[in-house]
Amino acid sequence: MPVVDYRGGVLDFRLGIDQGTSASKTAAMIWDWLKQPGRDYDALVLPNGINFGQMLTEHDQTSADSIKGREQYNLAFNTTVMKRPCALWNAQYEFEYFGDVLDEDISMNLSGDITVKPPNVAGGYVYQVPRKGFGPLKTRVIRVTAGKMPAWLVLFHELGHVKQYFEAGDAQWKIRLGDTNKIEADNLDDHEWPMCRDIGIPVRKHYKHNIFGFESIRKTYSAPTKAGAWKAASSKTLRVQLEADLKAEADRNAVDKPATGIYHAPGI
Ligand SMILES: [Zn+2]
Repeated sequence: MPVVDYRGGVLDFRLGIDQGTSASKTAAMIWDWLKQPGRDYDALVLPNGINFGQMLTEHDQTSADSIKGREQYNLAFNTTVMKRPCALWNAQYEFEYFGDVLDEDISMNLSGDITVKPPNVAGGYVYQVPRKGFGPLKTRVIRVTAGKMPAWLVLFHELGHVKQYFEAGDAQWKIRLGDTNKIEADNLDDHEWPMCRDIGIPVRKHYKHNIFGFESIRKTYSAPTKAGAWKAASSKTLRVQLEADLKAEADRNAVDKPATGIYHAPGI
């Protein structure tokens, strides 16, 4: 059995593991994989109010997140030296995120970029604002679903990183840390998405697609620069809409009505 030094809440940690392994075959796979000999790591259950999940190694020294994590590590273990990886987790921490992009004409890429066909494609959703003396201003609506990430899944996301660490080995991991976006993308692909599918909740395409990411995407990816590609410009030319809200708001087949709102453009 590997060495696991628990700090701050063995019971919470065990409950989190039990929840995960009983709900998801992927979580059970991760847990079985980590139980093999030689996969030694620490688990730190964070105090109330310290809400994040993280996986740290000795190589993580400088990023704002790792400084925040190491502070908690130092408090709990009374040392600044990390002799093995540590999964930091809070049993109360759940977060909202947005998931699947539902419009086939629009895809949200792993980079966080959005690729979209030109606006007002028949059959798509548009947000329309009437203008005096001009035709209405119409903008495409990106439809997404929303989900809440359960605490046990946050734990298994971090354990997924622990698994990645041992798969790479310490020297390779140090190199991999030069591209944390790739580490996250692989962790979503290999671990988080299968767990979400196991229990039937939306997948988030990018690890920054939490509720803060939702706002930043709404602000950032907005105006068309050339056909087929939309890039940052103004916040007035694109809307990101939760599917649940859209269903209540969209007035199907009524585009060009003289009112502001979301409409479903008629198909051809
Ligand atoms: Zn991660």
